[in-house]
Amino acid sequence: MRCLVLSDIHANLAALEAVLKDAKRRRLSYDMVWCLGDVVGYGPDPNACIELLRTVPHVCLAGNHDWAVLGKLELAAFHENATVVALWTREQLTAENLNYLRARSARELQERYLLAHASPREPIWEYILDTSVAAENFEHLPDGYALVGHTHVPVIFAQDRASGDVRASVPPPGIPIALDSGFRYILNPGGVGQPRDGDPRAAYALLDTEKHTWTQYRAEYPVHLTQAKMRAAGFPDTLIDRLSYGR
Ligand code: ZN
Repeated sequence: MRCLVLSDIHANLAALEAVLKDAKRRRLSYDMVWCLGDVVGYGPDPNACIELLRTVPHVCLAGNHDWAVLGKLELAAFHENATVVALWTREQLTAENLNYLRARSARELQERYLLAHASPREPIWEYILDTSVAAENFEHLPDGYALVGHTHVPVIFAQDRASGDVRASVPPPGIPIALDSGFRYILNPGGVGQPRDGDPRAAYALLDTEKHTWTQYRAEYPVHLTQAKMRAAGFPDTLIDRLSYGR
């Protein structure tokens, strides 16, 4: 199976559209979209993003921002800017789209891959930012493979099954990385709607579960369109500006 792996769309419709268009332009064939959560929050198009996602065969998780909008998380745990938009999003979402989000789980197994929004052991909150946190999480993988989002930064953590050593690498866009059976992997495609690795382009990946390859991609999108909608909705400047820098 070939899966387009997306995460952290964050209600950024221009970015989601650009990713789907970019995959088409590159003639990437895929059977499913696996979306790792945070479909909403931060961005101006929550309904349209859910509705576009639902036009393709997909599996979608819930992330911390989705839970905040649903009232499943204490907003006190959120940054003030994120809270403002979570409350706005709650007002905007249609009953059908709220139900759609409510039906998502934060972690689920697809084939040999454990999908989790944040981390395998703590699927809503934990950030896997370094090899030591990754090493602890490798203990929680049933079959040695996990896909996570949440940090909005593309990365591959690989653990040598023999030695237990963990290393991190940033996959160069467009080059298939072979997933070696001698390793366990935690793979993060980066963020579609709010990249945080200093590259403002939308990030996504293609996973081929038969060839055992992972290919990272980046897609340019009209950042100013999303920013104009955020401005019109009265969102905080910090959230608007960060999209220009990918931080
Ligand atoms: Zn997120």
